[in-house]
Amino acid sequence: MEKLNMKDKKLPLGFTFSFPCHQTKLDESILVTWTKGFKSSGVEGKDVVAMIRKAIKKRGDFDIDLVAVVNDTVGTMMTCGYDDHNCEVGLIVGTGTNACYMEEMRHIDLVEGDEGRMCINMEWGAFGDDGVLNDIRTEFDREIDMGSLNPGKQLFEKMISGMYMGELVRLILVKMAKEELLFDGRLTPSLLTTGHFETGYVSAIENFARRLQKTVRKLLPDCDIRFVRSEDGSGKGAAMVTAVAYRLAAQHKARQKTLEALKLSHEQLLEVKNRMRIEMERGLSKASHPDATVKMLPTYVCATPDGTEKGDFLALDLGGTNFRVLLVRMRNGIRRGVEMHNKIYSIPQEIMQGTGEELFDHIVHCISDFLEYMGMKGVSLPLGFTFSFPCQQNNLDEGILLKWTKGFKATGCEGEDVVNLLKEAIHRREEFDLDVVAVVNDTVGTMMTCGYEDPYCEVGLIVGTGSNACYMEEMRNVELVEGEEGRMCINMEWGAFGDNGCLDDFQTEFDVAVDELSLNAGKQRFEKMISGMYLGEIVRNILIDFTKRGLLFRGRISERLKTRGIFETKFLSQIESDCLALLQVRSILQHLGLESTCDDSIIVKEVCTVVARRAAQLCGAGMAAVVDKIRENRKLDFLKVTVGVDGTLYKLHPHFSSIMHETVKQLTPKCEVTFLQSEDGSGKGAALITAVACRIREAGQR
Ligand code: ADP
Ligand code: MG
Repeated sequence: MEKLNMKDKKLPLGFTFSFPCHQTKLDESILVTWTKGFKSSGVEGKDVVAMIRKAIKKRGDFDIDLVAVVNDTVGTMMTCGYDDHNCEVGLIVGTGTNACYMEEMRHIDLVEGDEGRMCINMEWGAFGDDGVLNDIRTEFDREIDMGSLNPGKQLFEKMISGMYMGELVRLILVKMAKEELLFDGRLTPSLLTTGHFETGYVSAIENFARRLQKTVRKLLPDCDIRFVRSEDGSGKGAAMVTAVAYRLAAQHKARQKTLEALKLSHEQLLEVKNRMRIEMERGLSKASHPDATVKMLPTYVCATPDGTEKGDFLALDLGGTNFRVLLVRMRNGIRRGVEMHNKIYSIPQEIMQGTGEELFDHIVHCISDFLEYMGMKGVSLPLGFTFSFPCQQNNLDEGILLKWTKGFKATGCEGEDVVNLLKEAIHRREEFDLDVVAVVNDTVGTMMTCGYEDPYCEVGLIVGTGSNACYMEEMRNVELVEGEEGRMCINMEWGAFGDNGCLDDFQTEFDVAVDELSLNAGKQRFEKMISGMYLGEIVRNILIDFTKRGLLFRGRISERLKTRGIFETKFLSQIESDCLALLQVRSILQHLGLESTCDDSIIVKEVCTVVARRAAQLCGAGMAAVVDKIRENRKLDFLKVTVGVDGTLYKLHPHFSSIMHETVKQLTPKCEVTFLQSEDGSGKGAALITAVACRIREAGQR
């Protein structure tokens, strides 16, 4: 450093230290044993990094930043890897011999973590030290070993490397001469001197590299192996590892800083719960309702099922990925149970976003097809219409659409009663008539379906394309509906939570980007942080940001990555699935047209984890507000309640449900909340509500 006149610079230092060491991190290296002629005392078992640092400090005339200790094999691999990305093995055949290669983390028991790869310094020189090579070793090998500084050690190395090969040849020549098989039996003093036959002479006679390569290829006919000679692997390699470590650390820090904004603390989640509670009160109260974002819509469903419901019903399910028509047969008594037939119809995008007339004509066309398919044309059955969009209801059989969500946009529907729109379409067709008894939100259907099995079920939750919840509220708190007695199910429309800006401090630039590119910008902010239609998009936006900043995919943004919607939420489930190897993550990304390295896959997986985790926690915080309100409504110190849940994200994501449950538990210590998955809540639930309504109507007519 003096010579280069840089003693005042504190440069990062990479230290190539080519002896067997235990490493628990890059800048720590405990010497296991000296090899290759070294023997200085007081070093074995010690951290050589600490020893160097101490020695530098003792001098006190310069400083360095020791970043990495590197074995020469690793340095060699890294040096060649700089030019050839396929270089994943390093080999040294010099004074000693050793090798390293990239091993899968899941095979490395000594290091925690199952993902990605780590370079393993084999220390293969010690191969045979337990006797496994004894049948191959000759008397010459034994003699060499006996005369060495470390007898019994590095037996494989002693058959291979430069420190020993010349001597090995000399011993053989001496023996042959002694037996008069060579040199006419003459021995010169030189030949009899240890170390006088140098390994260099062997090289002059023999081509080691060619023999090595030929042998490896012969043993591995199915592998295409390239040998690349490293130029000063130990020097360049150490610098390379140091540089890579520097870069990786800086990149890791940059990524973590971005992801930090998506990680919510307990305090933040409590805050979300409290704000949800405030918005709930706003929606319920008559004075603040018109401006409330969480609408808290009365549903005119006033009781959960009592299990005696029976009869045949039709149900429609509109509001998600699929439109379905169902026939539901309910029996009570000893043969109690529900039998369902349904048919799924697609709603083409141009109809979803066309005119209202086209949409409802299409729906009626599907009903007609279903009746024909079931052989029921002409039969008039009561119908429950699961319509999973925010509706203002003044009656069970009326639903005025407040606004479309989740990708629907048909004109002329907002502000209209969807039952009327349906009836008009039925009249236009002039084919059959239907008795529409109930408009049902899917959350309510879900609550009712689970309530049919579990009387504690008084909450419904959907986490599918969108997200929403409902629960049984005290009539005295439902200011929009007259009457003080009993309870009514409230469709919260919690997806709109945050639309007044009350969640702005939780939103990241990625949420803003997803919102701005959506069909309903500025609307359904909470839903957009939670549900299936958006999680993949949030992930995609983060990946784009990382790539733009050179923190992922080697900084190259593919056309695919720029495509909206390519990263479907089902990929989040697949990528996070515990049994999935990293290689499979890579193949999922490849399927998306994203060429990724092992490290890239780990990063993508982490992004998926963080985004899904935040979604589940936010959903849990909302749910905590709901169950705690029920408890307080009833002035209970402790509430036992069941939540009926539906939605593919909740059901199929490997961690969403457990994180959500855990969050609810942490935020509501005074409640015991059970979650029950509903089987087809929108279908069965609509029929149940229709059945209850018919029962009450018949009782009134009697
Ligand atoms: P909907 O909410 O439309 O009635 P679903 O409950 O089936 O219907 O939810 C569909 C949504 O679930 C899709 O929009 C998609 O985002 C998401 N999804 C589909 N498959 C998976 C999966 N394997 N894991 C997580 N989410 C999924
Ligand atoms: Mg659904």
